Amino acid sequence: MDRIILHCDGNNFFASCECTVRPELRKVPMAVAGDPESRHGIILAKNDLAKKAGVQTAEPIWQAKRKCPNLVCVPATFDLYHSFYERINKIYLSYTDLVEPFSIDESFLDITGCMHLHPGKSPRDIADEIRERVKAELGITVSVGVSFCKTFAKLGSDYKKPDATTVIFREDVPSIVYPLPVSDLVFVGKKTTEILSAHAVKTVGELAQLSENYLVRILGKQGKDLYTVVHCLEESQVRDFYDYVAPKSVSHGMTFRRDLVGENEVKSGVSVLADRVASRLRFEGFKGSVVQVTLRDPSFKQIQRQKKLSHPTYLQKEITDISMELIRANWDFSKPIRLITIGVNELVPKDEETVEQVSLFDMEESHTDTKKQEAIEDTMASIREKFGDKSIKFGYSSDSELGIK
Ligand SMILES: [Mg+2]
Repeated sequence: MDRIILHCDGNNFFASCECTVRPELRKVPMAVAGDPESRHGIILAKNDLAKKAGVQTAEPIWQAKRKCPNLVCVPATFDLYHSFYERINKIYLSYTDLVEPFSIDESFLDITGCMHLHPGKSPRDIADEIRERVKAELGITVSVGVSFCKTFAKLGSDYKKPDATTVIFREDVPSIVYPLPVSDLVFVGKKTTEILSAHAVKTVGELAQLSENYLVRILGKQGKDLYTVVHCLEESQVRDFYDYVAPKSVSHGMTFRRDLVGENEVKSGVSVLADRVASRLRFEGFKGSVVQVTLRDPSFKQIQRQKKLSHPTYLQKEITDISMELIRANWDFSKPIRLITIGVNELVPKDEETVEQVSLFDMEESHTDTKKQEAIEDTMASIREKFGDKSIKFGYSSDSELGIK
């Protein structure tokens, strides 16, 4: 029997959350913006009135205001969105434990094993019931895709919105999925779309006509995955919400395509690694209070240094700064580096209150700086969640020669 998988996606999520706590915002065109004080801040979400005026997600505020001069921009309040994330997933968990959050406003549910608890109801009925409950209890709308695999469930929630259910069972794939552009498939990004387009493949149906060997030849492992998906063979599981083991530390290492020499090259490498570590910490919901750096030279000589911080962090900037401080104190930059690993240990849940042991003298300043940097990185994280990891970068330049992407 086929599995029954739902993908539930909150509509205009950030804007919808803001409108539930400030209903007056429903009456005006409104957008949640990263850095609303600056004309160059970008639109993260908008309500229906703003959408009607042509405001688009990810465009700069000045551009949105040109289309919609009375647009009200409010700053992002991530605590609020997180509380909605918890409440919405609690509703999903009343149906099944197999709830896998995919981002702050999207979750997969596998309801195969609990259909018998809802006699007389179809999968569509359950999806509709979930939508009605979320709307009634939280005041926001979700769109739901129902399918036998995760990829098409995700496609379904995108197919019709807001506040709609789309069912894509096996028999619906040729009529619903095949006419869609390949870029509608999750994980098919710009680059893959370009490669496929160069092979005259624009739609999912055209993709389904290629052999597995051909797809592997042009796309590598992703070709195999895509073949599996478009031939309805995808079996990836929805994780159990409670099946989670907290990490003890988070680290990321990289051997560079060529050795790094000089402070600037080393800093580029360190920034990228710190970024990965920071994203992972944020995703897992932790901060850590020890930063550790491991360096290896071309003859495999290795040093490892660490520093205990006065407060736990998950900030890319702080992890970068401390790593560089450790390297500066322990490494001669004229010597080549082959591998760098950055790690953060002694993790605590990110929301746990911690006493910051900073001296009274610099307390105020350092506290506001940290809060400011957290706000910046929170905004960046949300942009990446929505638009992909590559949509926004910290101040390092990518350097493909060094194997840094
Ligand atoms: Mg959404």
